[in-house]
Amino acid sequence: MNEYDSNRIYDLSKKLNYIKTDNVEDTDCYVLNTCHIREKATEKVYHDIGRVKKEFRNKKKPIVIVTGCVAQAEGEVLLEKEKYIDAVIGPQSYHLLEKIIKNIEKKFKKINITEFDVIDKFDNLNLIKNSSTNISSFLTIQEGCDKFCKFCVVPYTRGPEFSRSINELLNECIDLANNGAKEITLLGQNVNAFNYCGIKLSDLIYEISKIKNIQRIRYTTSHPIDFSKDLIDAHANIKKLMPLIHLPVQSGSNKILNKMNRKHTVEYYIDLIRKLKKINPLTRFSSDFIIGYPGETDQDFEDSLHLLNEIEFINSFSFIYSSRAGTPAAKLEQVDENIAKKRLVIFQKRANEIKMRYRKKLFNKPAKVLFENKAKDNNKYFGRDEYFNSVIVKSDQNLIGQIKEVKILNGNQNTLFGEMKQKIKNKEFAA
Ligand code: SAH
Ligand code: SF4
Repeated sequence: MNEYDSNRIYDLSKKLNYIKTDNVEDTDCYVLNTCHIREKATEKVYHDIGRVKKEFRNKKKPIVIVTGCVAQAEGEVLLEKEKYIDAVIGPQSYHLLEKIIKNIEKKFKKINITEFDVIDKFDNLNLIKNSSTNISSFLTIQEGCDKFCKFCVVPYTRGPEFSRSINELLNECIDLANNGAKEITLLGQNVNAFNYCGIKLSDLIYEISKIKNIQRIRYTTSHPIDFSKDLIDAHANIKKLMPLIHLPVQSGSNKILNKMNRKHTVEYYIDLIRKLKKINPLTRFSSDFIIGYPGETDQDFEDSLHLLNEIEFINSFSFIYSSRAGTPAAKLEQVDENIAKKRLVIFQKRANEIKMRYRKKLFNKPAKVLFENKAKDNNKYFGRDEYFNSVIVKSDQNLIGQIKEVKILNGNQNTLFGEMKQKIKNKEFAA
C-alpha cells in the first residue's frame, strides 16, 4: 500500500512541476514515505534524513517532508527532534501535499497534518489520474482497520475501516487497463472487509473481471474472519481471480490467538482453507506468523510449527513480535529475546523447506507466466506465474505484457527459471 501511496504522492507533486529523481543530490523536495508496522521505523527516518543533511551541508536545503504511518504516530516529536523536517503528513492527509509544499515554499511555519480525512483524500485523489501503471498494478480499495489485534498499530495509524466507492474504483481500474495494466492487485489492510453501500469485495472482483484488458486479479491482505461465502464462491466462478490467497494467521495456538484478539481459532482457519480447497483444489496459501508474542510457550510455538506443516504454505512471512507503543500488547510481559530469536530461526528453516519442496514439484512442469519486464543486459524476461512465483526466461521475442506458457526448469527460494514452450495442452497446467 505504501508503494501505491508513494505513486499517488508523485502524481500530486507533478502538478507542481516536480519530476522524479533517483539521486538524493539532485532533489529540491525530499518526501520520505514511511511504515510503522514494526520497530526501528522511526530510527530509519532520522538516519535517512541524516543522509540528506550530509549531502546538502554546503548547498541550499531541500524541502523535507515525512509522510505515512511514522508521521502519523510520531508527528510533533519528529518536528521537535529533527529541525530539518519541514512537514509531517499522516497517510490520510497526503492529498494536501500541493498546499503544503506551496506553504513551505513561502516559508510558512512547520506543518503537522495527521487528521483522518480519508473521504476528502480520495475525493482529491480522484481528480488526478493514477499515472503509475505497470503490467501488474496496485489499486487501493479499502483502508484502515476496526479489528484492534493487540499487537498492531494499524488501527491507530491508518484509522477506521473505509471503503472507496465502486464508481471511482472502476474508473481508476479502466484507466489502469487503458494504460497497459494486465494484472490488478486490490489492496486493503483488511481488503475482504471491503463494503461500499452493500457492495462487497466479490462484487467488485466480478465487475473488474469484465474489463477486457485485465487478465488477472489478486487481492491482499485478507482477514480470516471476513472471508464470506460469496468470496469463497468467487474463487470458483471468476477465472481471472488467481489461485493464491494470502491469509495471515499469526499463530497456530488458540491461546495466543485469543490473547492477540484475532477473533478466530485454528480450527476455524483450517476449516476455511478446506472450504477454499474444496471449491478449487489448486488453490494455494501464504501466511504471516508472529513469533514470540507475549505469553508464547514452547508448546504454543510447536503449535505454530504444526500449522505450518499442516497447511504447507507456499510462502510464510514470519516476524519476531515487535512491541509497539500505545498498543495493548506493549504492556504485557515480553518473551525473552534470545528464545524468540531461536524460535524464529527454527520456524524460518522449516518454512523454507516446505517452500522448496513445493517449488521442486514445479520443475519440468508447465506454468502460465505474465511477463512484466526485461533485464537490462540481455534477452531475459521477468514475470510471475499464477501463484505469484517470480519466473525468468530467455526469449528473442518481446514478451512484456503477455501471458505465455513456460516450462519451469529449476529454481531457488526466490526465482524459478524456465524456457519458452510453444504448445502446452491446458490440462497439463495442474500445479
Ligand atoms: N491486516 C492483516 C495484516 C496487516 S499487518 C491481518 O490482519 O492479517 C502485516 C503483518 O505484520 C501482520 O500480518 C503481522 O504478521 C505483522 N505485524 C503486525 N504488527 C506486528 C508486531 N507488532 N510485531 C510483529 N509483527 C507484526
Ligand atoms: Fe492489524 Fe490486521 Fe489486526 Fe487490523 S486485522 S489490527 S491490520 S493485524
